[in-house]
Amino acid sequence: MFRFTTIKDYHAALQVNQLSCAQVVDFYLSQIQKHSDLHSFIEVFSEEAMQRALDLDALRAQGKPLGKLHGVVVGIKDVLCYKDHQVSAASKILENYTAIYSASAIEKLLSEGAIIIGRQNCDEFAMGSSNENSAFGAVKNGLDPNKVPGGSSGGSAVGVQMDLCMVSLGSDTGGSVRQPADFCGVVGLKPSYGRISRYGLIAYASSFDQIGIFSKTVEDASLVLEVIAGKDDMDSTVSDLPVPAYSQSNTPLPKRVAYFKETISHPGLDPEMKNKFIDYIQSLQHSGYTVDAIDFSLLSFVVPTYYVLTTAEASSNLSRFDGVKFGHRTKQPISDLTELYKLSRTEGFGEEVQRRILLGTFVLSAGYFDAYFTKAQQVRKQLVNFTEELFSKYEVLISPTVPSTAFRLGEHHQTPSQMFLADIYTVYANLVGIPAISIPLFKHSNGMPFGLQAMSATFQEETLLAFSASQMNQQLSS
Ligand code: GLN
Repeated sequence: MFRFTTIKDYHAALQVNQLSCAQVVDFYLSQIQKHSDLHSFIEVFSEEAMQRALDLDALRAQGKPLGKLHGVVVGIKDVLCYKDHQVSAASKILENYTAIYSASAIEKLLSEGAIIIGRQNCDEFAMGSSNENSAFGAVKNGLDPNKVPGGSSGGSAVGVQMDLCMVSLGSDTGGSVRQPADFCGVVGLKPSYGRISRYGLIAYASSFDQIGIFSKTVEDASLVLEVIAGKDDMDSTVSDLPVPAYSQSNTPLPKRVAYFKETISHPGLDPEMKNKFIDYIQSLQHSGYTVDAIDFSLLSFVVPTYYVLTTAEASSNLSRFDGVKFGHRTKQPISDLTELYKLSRTEGFGEEVQRRILLGTFVLSAGYFDAYFTKAQQVRKQLVNFTEELFSKYEVLISPTVPSTAFRLGEHHQTPSQMFLADIYTVYANLVGIPAISIPLFKHSNGMPFGLQAMSATFQEETLLAFSASQMNQQLSS
């Protein structure tokens, strides 16, 4: 039976005709079927994926040049537009909406020969940390179906975890790729803000959102990044810095590592995870790394700052879903336009999305703007300055990805503020725009995996990936 290891191995097997893309797609379709109770996918593009596999097999047989992602089976989070396919952001308000163009990242995947197998479940409009906020039902963690997979890109994490696809694309506004990667035991990469075009990504908070990658190995994430990163005329926030060949990079291993004292002393951090993290720091020091503890007095401000700014941006971004231009429109009798908006939005948006629109509208309202929004912007600026200074001295910053392992379904669903605290280590990277990754280095005695989060200076993905790959390889060999 087919067993996926890396894209490189897969390509080698295709080249010697040990496998065909069609056999592989068949394998993934049966896996998706077998694990349908996990709700990883909202829709599977079965026939289309199979047809594309057959076309790619024919191309190979003719000796034609092959793309970097030839035959790679990819799942996409249901916030990425794929022309002529439905996209809903896991929301009732976009039910039956069909994308009229493809996201630039999707175009780039396709132009390098990838096969898109389906759209993956997530928290509604990417708001959440447990994937329980989906209008299509919660996603379950494949390692323990009583537990959450994390969110908001939970379906995409489970896709890679349970071999329902080879790699997947998610989006990360405050941790939505890294946190589910941590809970599911896979690699989750959020590149720098501006590395990948957001054109065709349904916006949650535009100055934070970034497309991210789930994979089993750092090497595969590097290859996918290399394909989807780079300048795009459709998104002026994308950097025009050249895209390095991340998968071929021979950047020297960074040796100067920092961590924040406050991440370790944080009262919410699981004690066993704390001990493992401390042991890990020592093992890095033994292998010749400089690892310094840094004061980060702003840690307790990052979650409030994140939620003020992202909800403000969301209240503006989501105003286009009004029952007139897009998606769901109320069928109830209405007397005026305002009522049409109110009823359509009340019926179409779930509870968490409504809460955030209200919160965002509140922090932007005339009497409170300076007290909340302006203040939060000031904190963000301070964080940016602090980060620039930090990375003038260090190359990599490490922390646990999340303070606990995957929690039980329903455990935090009724207490949003508890859920928000799970984002304590991840939102910082989005506030300052730096790249960050979660790599599955650890296992808890409760049986669940957990990750190491590593971050580097803006656009220093090569450094980050070199460090992460070496840590994963070291763990495999130990
Ligand atoms: N859990 C965070 C939130 O609910 C992150 C979401 C995300 O990155 N899309 O906002």
